[in-house]
Amino acid sequence: MRKIISGISSNSRNADSAVRPIEIFAIIISSVIGFTVTLGWYLEEEVILSVIPGSPTMKFNTALVFFTTGILLAMQNPKKSILQFFYYLLALLIVAIGALTLLEYLGWPIYSIDNLFVYDNFSSNYPGRMSPATAFCSLILGLGLITNLSKNDFLRKIGGFMYMLIVFISIIAITAYLLSIPIGNKGILFQSMAIHTAILFFIISISILLKNTGNFHLLICGNYAGSKLIKKVLPLIILFPLLFNYVLITAIDENLFSYDFGMIAFTTIFIPLSIFYISYIALGLNKTDIEKHLVENDLLEKNRYLKQFKNGIDKAFIVAITDQYGVITEVNETFCKISKYSEKELIGKTHGLLNSGHHDKQFFIKMWKTIRSGEIWIDEIKNRAKDGSFYWVLTAIVPFKNEKNQVTEFMALRQDITERKNAEEIRIKSLKKLEYKNKELEQFAFVASHDLQEPLRTVINFTDLLARKQKHHFDEIGVKSLDFIQEATNRMSLLIKSLLDYNRIDKNSTLSQINCNKLINEVKKDLDKKITESNAKIFINMLPVIMGYETPLRLLFQNLLGNGIKFKKRNVNPVIEITARPIEGGFLFMVKDNGIGISSIHQEKIFEIFKRLHSKDEYDGSGIGLAHCRKIVDLHGGEIWVDSKLDNGSTFFFTIKTAIK
Ligand code: ADP
Repeated sequence: MRKIISGISSNSRNADSAVRPIEIFAIIISSVIGFTVTLGWYLEEEVILSVIPGSPTMKFNTALVFFTTGILLAMQNPKKSILQFFYYLLALLIVAIGALTLLEYLGWPIYSIDNLFVYDNFSSNYPGRMSPATAFCSLILGLGLITNLSKNDFLRKIGGFMYMLIVFISIIAITAYLLSIPIGNKGILFQSMAIHTAILFFIISISILLKNTGNFHLLICGNYAGSKLIKKVLPLIILFPLLFNYVLITAIDENLFSYDFGMIAFTTIFIPLSIFYISYIALGLNKTDIEKHLVENDLLEKNRYLKQFKNGIDKAFIVAITDQYGVITEVNETFCKISKYSEKELIGKTHGLLNSGHHDKQFFIKMWKTIRSGEIWIDEIKNRAKDGSFYWVLTAIVPFKNEKNQVTEFMALRQDITERKNAEEIRIKSLKKLEYKNKELEQFAFVASHDLQEPLRTVINFTDLLARKQKHHFDEIGVKSLDFIQEATNRMSLLIKSLLDYNRIDKNSTLSQINCNKLINEVKKDLDKKITESNAKIFINMLPVIMGYETPLRLLFQNLLGNGIKFKKRNVNPVIEITARPIEGGFLFMVKDNGIGISSIHQEKIFEIFKRLHSKDEYDGSGIGLAHCRKIVDLHGGEIWVDSKLDNGSTFFFTIKTAIK
């Protein structure tokens, strides 16, 4: 609706600019002709006075009327009272000239004004007196000009009718000239009206009508069906009768056919021709109308669709519309609810009202840059509600553009993500805390194991010394105790070494391309003694080249292969198979053995540090190998797990990511 109204008003603005030249033309032509003819009377120049030789002259008083009208039109509606006084004075002069002349015609020669300024030597009939039609037109023109200044609509409407009457009278006079109807035949009313008088009356009245009456100038200058119709029909109505009548009258004058025949010919040709022409135009207009209706229906349908769309958006989102400067013009209920401001408090303000201070200036500068360039901007914003509480919104700002592609408005669609953001904040905080604790723990383990090594080495050295030099002084219990102490200290030393190794994983490692086949062949060489002793068979299927940390990966394969050999079934030679296949984002490795297997309840536990399922006497080891494996796999962004059944072999699975962070 808003658009339609603005369309009409822009149309009237166009019409205004179209009317302006006509108005200026009317001002110039009426004052110039008025002035020239008054001069013509003093110079007694007949060409100026009558234009067509032998036809009536424009009387001095008439010229005065036009000259005065030109001045009045040029004054435009004066605002100053002194100018208004002059305006009324001059308009009254025109009224007086018209009225007094008419009174003369009615036989009341109160005061003869016909030859007041110059004497008319050209006219035989009523010398110096304007025609009754001119006098009448002058009278109503003067009155019309008076109503121009009035603010009363009714008076202005009456003025409009007066101008229309002048147009009507002047058209009759012009037509009579065009058809060369002899003066005597023009009837008393039009007797002695000069051609330029008629034309001037016509131009002046049309220009005032166009200026004053919106509908009238819309009718002439608009782009609507009515305006189109009039533009198409007017030439037919004006030109056809004029031309046809001219031909007929000439033919009748030349006695080519009778007057009756002329009348019949005119009627019989004019009626069907008009019907045909108007029907043709009407069909065209109908077509436009049908198209308009189709467009209208389409628009209504789209409108209905858009309304539902808007309803949906209103329910699902926090919505705000702002002008191009960011001033809020519309908000929905959800917006008020989350911001805790009322609609009244929000309209006319900018979103600065909700600024939480969380984002820096650059954040908003970037946002404005994006949306001003017509792009959609999407990001998360932390806002502050009226009560001081904070809320997070995922925001999309959509610029609206006009037909010139200029951004005129913005629509901000938001979704409340406070809960998610809070959870995220908590998660990040806990993660940081965990990271810190882990580091602390690692440091503690490192310091503890490192510092324990020194006193332990002393104990080991002295026990060794004691065993070598003093053992023969000990009785049986003493010797056994010494053996226990030696065994325990050696074991403790191994544990501490493992712990230090565990801590050192991922430190000082560099990423490189690793050919896994080559790496495992090297590991096999390292384990050669164990392989030979146990008669183990190791099968390697084509393994990939991966990005990884070489030393940790070597340790990983060493542990898994070592375990596969170590945890073999009694009297069964170990058989180990290593395979790999690509998966999304990396590789999956499988190390399968035919060993003793692991019961499902222990399959998680074995990856913990120092967790063992067997005693040292059964199977040698420290219980840190798989913990190492897990840490190495973790370093490569992967996961490790086992699939096994007791007495039925085990398959260790682990993944390695292609892109390691
Ligand atoms: P260690 O080998 O020093 O005992 P690990 O951390 O390598 O320590 O292994 C932890 C435990 O997991 C082992 O003690 C063993 O009980 C079990 N285990 C590891 N690998 C295998 C395997 N291939 N078959 C059966 N059990 C295994």
